[in-house]
Amino acid sequence: MSATSERIPETPDRDGAFPRLTEDQVRRLEPEGERRPTRNREVLFREGDERYDLYVVLDGKVAVIDGYGGPDERIVAVHGARRFLGELGLLTGQAAFFSAVVRQPGEVLVVPGERLRELITQDAGLADLLLRAYFLRRELLIGLGGGLRLIGSRFSPETRRLREFVARNRLPHRWIDVEQDERAEAALRELGVSPDQTPVVIWRGQVLRNPSEEELARIVGLSTGKTPRTACDLLVVGAGPSGLAASVYGASEGLRTVTLDAVATGGQAATSSRIENYLGFPAGISGAELAERAVIQARKFGASITVPAEAAALEYADGGYTVRLTDEGEIRSRTVVVASGARYRRLQVPRLDEYEGDSVYYAATMMEARMCAGDPIVVVGGGNSAGQATLFLSRYATALRLLIRGDSLDRSMSRYLADRIERSSTEVLLNTEVRELEGGSSLEAVITENSLTGERRRVPARALFVFIGAEPHTGWLSGNVALDRHGFVLTGAAAADAPGAKGSGSRRPTLLETSSAGVLAVGDVRSGSIKRVASAVGEGSMAVRLIHDFLERVHQHPHHSP
Ligand SMILES: Cc1cc2nc3c(=O)[nH]c(=O)nc-3n(C[C@H](O)[C@H](O)[C@H](O)COP(=O)(O)OP(=O)(O)OC[C@H]3O[C@@H](n4cnc5c(N)ncnc54)[C@H](O)[C@@H]3O)c2cc1C
Repeated sequence: MSATSERIPETPDRDGAFPRLTEDQVRRLEPEGERRPTRNREVLFREGDERYDLYVVLDGKVAVIDGYGGPDERIVAVHGARRFLGELGLLTGQAAFFSAVVRQPGEVLVVPGERLRELITQDAGLADLLLRAYFLRRELLIGLGGGLRLIGSRFSPETRRLREFVARNRLPHRWIDVEQDERAEAALRELGVSPDQTPVVIWRGQVLRNPSEEELARIVGLSTGKTPRTACDLLVVGAGPSGLAASVYGASEGLRTVTLDAVATGGQAATSSRIENYLGFPAGISGAELAERAVIQARKFGASITVPAEAAALEYADGGYTVRLTDEGEIRSRTVVVASGARYRRLQVPRLDEYEGDSVYYAATMMEARMCAGDPIVVVGGGNSAGQATLFLSRYATALRLLIRGDSLDRSMSRYLADRIERSSTEVLLNTEVRELEGGSSLEAVITENSLTGERRRVPARALFVFIGAEPHTGWLSGNVALDRHGFVLTGAAAADAPGAKGSGSRRPTLLETSSAGVLAVGDVRSGSIKRVASAVGEGSMAVRLIHDFLERVHQHPHHSP
């Protein structure tokens, strides 16, 4: 940072990431905050601050800096009059992932973070502008590799665990691979950490040795709620689209609503780079953005969302349910919505384990694209997830091949995706399956086999993306609700007919009700579900209506049992 303050140019707006407020918008914000002068080099907030406020620059310039005061400090953006500071974390209550430093003295308007979070629920114009800018800034930060520093080996399962957690939670971070990055050794030496003590996370200049997900979530302010001590009305297990919908509608209709997720909010949808078939978004919306918007909305209505918190068991006692968590905590609730979705299916090929931390991916977001930009890429799968990933990755790969087991793209992929893939430079290999993975410490190629001709082929691949379906997350329910033969939760008439169903008397379960009265299942985890974001959201909202009916029935006949 050698430039003098006066000469530092303002960063141009990038696609709405750095908009300028109108005079009128500034006037609307004025009564909510306080004007104050700034001094040159004054730090308005610092990377790692647990709470910070909205700063609107009224005069002068403020630089947004990644790694402030550290050896790899860099300026992310410079803002002048009527630009505002902050990024997504300001709306979701997370810590600051960068510092803001005055580079030309002037004046700022400071609006307390709490007040800002209320304001965006009241002023639609301002909310739209801020939300859009803040999402784009979060993407920018992720793209830049700002925020947390994670140092570890690509071969370490603990490093993989932490990388997956930060990636799924869309936390800005930089991963420094001790195997490949020359800076890793110097950074570790400086921190007094030996390579065998990795992975470590560097945050606010402190070293966290192999932290748990809970610890990481706590320090960055990810958990947006606390496990309640008293029973709630509605406990939602899973914060994918279906669970978030149940949370929004439950909380907005006055139910004391608690939502848990084992990994991250947004579920599978948040790993989708662009959802194009969700009603109301003609240009598509990234799954991450949809999830963040829903989380802000659920919180606005008072839902408590806890991440990470994994349900381990469901029990019935004393007229209500208890969900036990893997960390030995428990939550009591009058009703439960099972929204725990499904997990990706793995390829059955030798050496998959070896490459999973490094070259095999089950999602295609900016994060993965950045890791394999310029590499030959193979995508496996014939459904819409594979189709979307292929189109998205085609912008980053040198050679992209899509492998499908069937004989046509049309069989299980939407026409619009198949058309675009056919028009792209992607090579599509039909009737093809992966048989072997080849390479040294990193993947170099996959060996494929044509199921009609038996012909084997070596296909160069530095990254392998797998989208071949999913298995339900229902282990935690075992024995307490009826499942179909694939492990998905039976609901409605199918649940009533299941062996061992525990319906309440002669009453049959309602549409989304499981074999236990007051326990509903929604979204991908439900037997026979459509496996779309829109249907998951629809079911999440319907569930709340059915829960009201259930609570009403219990009120009238208090001696029911599940
Ligand atoms: C890459 C990709 C792209 C996709 N693109 C599209 C698209 O464009 N359009 C479309 O309509 N659909 C798309 N889908 C499908 C869509 O994302 C899913 O249908 C949708 O996410 C299902 O929502 P859900 O809430 O039912 O479950 P999920 O999204 O699977 O969410 C379930 C959540 O429950 C949590 N969980 C699981 N077990 C537990 C437990 N024991 N305790 C606590 N939490 C738990 C999980 O961590 C997860 O966050 C895509 C899917 C993928 C993978």
